[in-house]
Amino acid sequence: MSANTTTGKIDEPVTRQTFDDVMVPVFAPASFIPVRGSGLALWDQSGKQYLDLTGGIAVLGLGHTPPEIVDALVEQARNLWHVSNYYTNEPVLKLARALTEATFAEKVFFCNSGGEANEAAFKLARKWAHDHFGPKKNRIVSCFHSFHGRTLFTVSVGGQEKYTKGFEPLPPQIDHIPFNDIEAARAAIGDDVCAVVVEPVQGEGGILPADPAYLKALRQLCDEKNALLIFDEIQCGMGRTGTLFAYMDYGVVPDIMTSAKALGNGFPIAAMLTTTEIAKSFSVGAHGTTYGGNPLAAAVACKVLEIINKPAFLARVVEAGQKLRESLERIAADYPDVFAGVRGKGLMLGMVMSEKYQGRAGEITQAAQQQGLLLLLAGYDVIRFVPALIVSDEHIRQGEKLLRQAIDIWLRQ
Ligand SMILES: *Cc1c(COP(=O)(O)O)cnc(C)c1O
Repeated sequence: MSANTTTGKIDEPVTRQTFDDVMVPVFAPASFIPVRGSGLALWDQSGKQYLDLTGGIAVLGLGHTPPEIVDALVEQARNLWHVSNYYTNEPVLKLARALTEATFAEKVFFCNSGGEANEAAFKLARKWAHDHFGPKKNRIVSCFHSFHGRTLFTVSVGGQEKYTKGFEPLPPQIDHIPFNDIEAARAAIGDDVCAVVVEPVQGEGGILPADPAYLKALRQLCDEKNALLIFDEIQCGMGRTGTLFAYMDYGVVPDIMTSAKALGNGFPIAAMLTTTEIAKSFSVGAHGTTYGGNPLAAAVACKVLEIINKPAFLARVVEAGQKLRESLERIAADYPDVFAGVRGKGLMLGMVMSEKYQGRAGEITQAAQQQGLLLLLAGYDVIRFVPALIVSDEHIRQGEKLLRQAIDIWLRQ
């Protein structure tokens, strides 16, 4: 126990230094502390304003503090916050009904983070295979450079060794294959495979869309080998690529899909969606969570889904995605030495660094921050753009201007 029993200390001012003093150092946050946000605008403790094109890492589909979502949250907070899973609640039932009506799925399991949704998906796949084919059908196939969360199981399924190093022993029977390589998939997906998991657009791994033929081939291979196809749509779903979920544009339907990030616009909620038949393998007591499907989170997600899942909203995402892509392509063309090109889908875009500037994308995002523009990385060689889906043409113009300034200043240094 802490010896410090001074009361009132909670209200004393905090600075970025406080982070280093009292937080477990798994993150290295920016030098400023944001205190207020509205739409794509963010203000720090000193009152400096930023244009936020990070969308809270593809979380803030509707931007910072959208009034309709704040209202939904506050209204629910006044009525009911939490009841435990010994009772169900109205918002969670409405949300599950809306998600099943909007997707291939017939059943939904709610939890609190993307990693938990994938953990549930992988456990369900193992349980389903165990129930129907016995304990030997347990192998999970995933792609290199994929990201599926930070629990020990999900980080092991994820295809980035740097995240599992030092945490061994890892859960066994997990194989990794190169993304978009159909022959590698054919070789890897044998009779002992219970599930194949893939992000339709790889996010953390560098903003890489799957080839349509690749997802179709995975679907076919899974059908041939009685394996479940799992789509991790935690980053690319909820309108990000221009359809409610990315699988809809690809025309390939998974057996299990996970959603999180933009589902709650920053309020923690995640979902694992599947069919009635597969869901049967999760009988009462087989899996669970204290907060999953909490009324507050569900009320927020209901409102988010209602706003995003409208043809006009999604059509604007496609349009804004084209405009942002054109803007980034103009910049890439004007700095051919620095950038190799632009890739992605909808409002999930990446500027790829040239051979010459390998590993230096972070210097550009740092310079952009100085100019009041917030950008993300995906790996060391891709500048990632996953802004709020409500990004306007004016935001895109302003972003281009600030990014050009930042690149010019960086190149002069
Ligand atoms: C962010 C992310 C996750 C993990 O979600 P958490 O909420 O951080 O646990 C899993 N998969 C993908 C594709 C993601 O982008």
